[in-house]
Amino acid sequence: MTTTGTATAHQELTDEFNPFLAMAKRFEIASDRLGLDPGLRDVLRTPDRELSVSVPVLMDDKTLKVFTGYRVQHNWVLGPCKGGIRFAPDVNLDEVRALSAWMTWKCSVVGLPFGGGKGGVICDPREMSKGELERLTRRYTASIMDILGPDRDVPAPDMNTNAQTMAWIMDTYSMHVRSTQTAVVTGKPLALGGSLGRHEATGRGVMISAREALKRLGMRPEDTKVVVQGSGNVGGIGALLMHREGYTITSLSDMYGSIHNPNGLDVPNVLEFLAEKGKLEGFPDAEAVPNAVQLELPCDVLIPAATENTITSKNVDKIKAKLIVEGANGPTTFPADSVLDERGVMVVPDILANAGGVTVSYFEWVQDRMGYFWTEEVVNSRLEQIMVKAFDEVDEVAKKHDVSLRIGSYIHAIGRVAEVYQLRGSFA
Ligand code: NAD
Repeated sequence: MTTTGTATAHQELTDEFNPFLAMAKRFEIASDRLGLDPGLRDVLRTPDRELSVSVPVLMDDKTLKVFTGYRVQHNWVLGPCKGGIRFAPDVNLDEVRALSAWMTWKCSVVGLPFGGGKGGVICDPREMSKGELERLTRRYTASIMDILGPDRDVPAPDMNTNAQTMAWIMDTYSMHVRSTQTAVVTGKPLALGGSLGRHEATGRGVMISAREALKRLGMRPEDTKVVVQGSGNVGGIGALLMHREGYTITSLSDMYGSIHNPNGLDVPNVLEFLAEKGKLEGFPDAEAVPNAVQLELPCDVLIPAATENTITSKNVDKIKAKLIVEGANGPTTFPADSVLDERGVMVVPDILANAGGVTVSYFEWVQDRMGYFWTEEVVNSRLEQIMVKAFDEVDEVAKKHDVSLRIGSYIHAIGRVAEVYQLRGSFA
């Protein structure tokens, strides 16, 4: 290969793994189908607001360290922006932008009255004490609080942030506005206005999406073998709920490796073992399998529920599942989409399959604003209604346009935001 050839191949690979480009390409395909004019496309693809802040933090050793934080509000046409805040060393504006746009389409696809937002702080939480993380969270909140609020922008946990982080954000915001504002964030502890059912919501949404897709494929739970990548909030809980519904979960993984039993894993035992030992390795009644091989195991359903860019141009040909349900955000790259399409593999895309989490976040926001809290049964049954309705709508759009569920979900989501934008009009 020539130097230019190598450079081009390298660029293609880098582009394949760029989440913003992946989202932009799917956006263009869906916009073409919708016949959106160039001006409206520009409005919908451009973030409404990007805030970059310096966050000085007094460290435990009394030195002052300045961190960089972002909050991007992609689009607030449907309502207040909604989206997580992540703390990680590789946070960058491009990634936050892409994730905020994904949130716009995710909220729209399930019909929530929210736009999309996302935030992040460049830091390494593993090297910070709890006190340092609290001071970082509070100062970051104070720095972005002009654009936050229950009617403006409502953050939630994401990578390396949790219910405690949300409690600090809620308290910092409330102290500044001199009143308790629980609805400024979701994913809070129950005692602070969190919602029952939020912890399981994304896994439950994945289970519902898989069930609806399998109905279309004419398959019954008892005849269905499922491989799940990841054993955390999405993968572990998704696997547990599907196990209870009678599916055979043949493999689970974590960042250290995978376990496989073609006759089915006892998922409650696996999760208990994981909670005790901190990793799946060594679980009895299963063989150890390298993570790359796990995705290629024979199965009916593959649920990538760990990280982005796991189904790529490099491994897509070896995937044997008939159905992929994307628990993670962005697990399939854009070039892999068309290969799966050609092979007739059904993919329930991330913006639909993992929308159970943001849906129950929406329920949390509603409950906080009402000051009236629902039972877990009410939460779960409303989640069920919203997920099934969204699945049916996406399926119908996909059939009408003769496209995949992924492009169908983008057409549905973008079409809804475009319609509301046009109804509201612009005073440009
Ligand atoms: P988590 O941290 O609870 O779990 C992640 C799991 O993936 C862990 O078991 C980890 O060991 C495993 N893992 C990490 N790297 C891996 C690898 N290379 N191979 C195999 N396993 C690996 O995170 P989560 O909340 O379950 O989130 C998982 C994905 O779902 C992320 O993409 C996240 O953005 C997305 N998501 C989460 C939610 C939510 O409500 N938690 C909502 C929507 C989307």
